[in-house]
Amino acid sequence: MRPVVLCFSGLDPSGGAGLQADIEAIAALQAHAAVACTALTIQDSQQVYGFQTVNADLLAQQAAKVLADLPVKAIKCGMLATPEAVAVVKQICQQHPHLPLILDPVLVANSGGSLTVEGFIDSLKQLFPYAHLLTPNTVEAERLTGLSVVDNEADVIKTLSDLGVKAVLLKGGHEHGQMLRNRLYQDNKLIQTSQWPRLNAQFHGSGCSLASAISAGIANGLPLPIAVTRAEVWLQHSLQNADFPHKNGQAIPRRILGQI
Ligand code: PLP
Repeated sequence: MRPVVLCFSGLDPSGGAGLQADIEAIAALQAHAAVACTALTIQDSQQVYGFQTVNADLLAQQAAKVLADLPVKAIKCGMLATPEAVAVVKQICQQHPHLPLILDPVLVANSGGSLTVEGFIDSLKQLFPYAHLLTPNTVEAERLTGLSVVDNEADVIKTLSDLGVKAVLLKGGHEHGQMLRNRLYQDNKLIQTSQWPRLNAQFHGSGCSLASAISAGIANGLPLPIAVTRAEVWLQHSLQNADFPHKNGQAIPRRILGQI
């Protein structure tokens, strides 16, 4: 069967972000998504109204059954929300050290609503030594390090690297300028920069989609820079073809194109 990516992610009932984004992105990029659900959110294309997390034992059992049964080739984390969920993923990483972990440090939705409980940021750092790739936008990178990207990008990356992260894709979606610039660092060195025309819209689930698309490439054995570029090309296409629900809603990436 196609390689499997085990995703830890939350349900977004609007279908823009979270586990639905993971499933669609991973399927679009020739892998199969198996999802251990971390939380049920209450949300639409406009905002987050709340969420309820899944009990850690239930989460661990979901993941354990998939790992024992399917050819999992990579692990991707989106909304973990609690230190307890982080502990579940950490234990799995310790038990499966050969599986690359793609860690999207989800803190808030693009609409602004929080998707974590208190104490989450510090606990998330425990996963950094296991992360093959961390995919923060600049706002998340600043919250994780307490440093400013504009003033000191090199220090931001060094801080993440000192915490054990092997590679960082620093995403420029929250910056300004006509071109959006993503920077890929590996072992503390800039190895790739890509530029994309900034699209004039707010998107729901773009971060989830990108990290999942990268994980599908990693699961298929692609080298990291190629997995990243392939995912970026695909994401840009999905965003250009996004569905706009109405004037107040964020656009939903069209991740599956080219039906029969
Ligand atoms: N995971 C879930 C369940 C979400 O609801 C969201 C945002 O709404 C995210 C992750 C992060 O989404 P984005 O890709 O827009 O950062």
